[in-house]
Amino acid sequence: MGARTKIDWCDATWNPITGCYHGCEYCYARSIARRFDGKISRDDIFSRTVTACGREWRIHEAEYEVLPYPYGFEPTLHRGRLDIPQGWKKPKNIFVCSMADMYGRWVPDEWKVEVLKACAKAPQHRYLFLTKDPTWYGFWPNNEKWPGYTEFDAYTDNMWCGVTYTGSERLPWAQEEHPFNPEDQMSRLGTASNFWYLWRMSGAITPYIKHRFLSVEPMRCDIMEVKNERDLGIQGGVERLMDEIFLKSQRTPFEIRPIFDWVIVGAETGNRKDKVKPRKEWVMKLAIRCEQENIPLFMKESLRETMGSDFRQEFPW
Ligand code: SF4
Repeated sequence: MGARTKIDWCDATWNPITGCYHGCEYCYARSIARRFDGKISRDDIFSRTVTACGREWRIHEAEYEVLPYPYGFEPTLHRGRLDIPQGWKKPKNIFVCSMADMYGRWVPDEWKVEVLKACAKAPQHRYLFLTKDPTWYGFWPNNEKWPGYTEFDAYTDNMWCGVTYTGSERLPWAQEEHPFNPEDQMSRLGTASNFWYLWRMSGAITPYIKHRFLSVEPMRCDIMEVKNERDLGIQGGVERLMDEIFLKSQRTPFEIRPIFDWVIVGAETGNRKDKVKPRKEWVMKLAIRCEQENIPLFMKESLRETMGSDFRQEFPW
């Protein structure tokens, strides 16, 4: 984790938290962390088990910076890394936790608060967060413990909250992550149709986030054609997932605009056997939609050859 990165849409990566339990098959971070696994005992005094969403998760805290991945890919807070952005005087666009999902359901609230406080100490930078489960951007059950860090004031104007969507394979996962709750109208819809996931993903329940972006990386299917199963009798619904995602919403009392302010798209890199190569027409459909909605689109270098003269790298700032 450091000032230099190969990721082309940011200037630097910063990993105060590493490790993730989502288990995506194409995960490059897991391979790296396992290769450099410090093989520290998972039962030491810095380890504990947390319960979230009805499951137990092993997590760790490293007080000092001795090894990059002391517990391999098991979620770890590295306290010694929290002040790193303060040492970068020149403003950077920082991808926070490129080696983790900081909003995975196993991440304790206090870890998130520690990271957000560290961001506040170095306000010269722009911070880019990315998760597969944006639900937790807005879920702060114990927020009275952190005055000034409720969901309503934690995300400042220099913070960009992103969500990754790679294709339809995420939807069964979403059902497992957000199981059926008969008391919850949205959950009930979600169980039947994944609507709950889409709703959360769209950021509709996190209106206080100033900037949102969508990352379609790696693109694994024609996401503009992924159908939203909707045999639910929802009046006025839409048929395609992306129609829903790009739907305009009330962003502030005075402003209606699309939910996302920026879209990133890229192909899977590396030599994985089951790698899916995005077709040009898949990317073009997304590009046309972004153009219609006036949303900047950043194509990763991995798409340069496929896209030819249609390749473009746009930033929203
Ligand atoms: S969410 Fe990211 S870090 Fe976690 S397994 Fe998937 S690709 Fe890896």
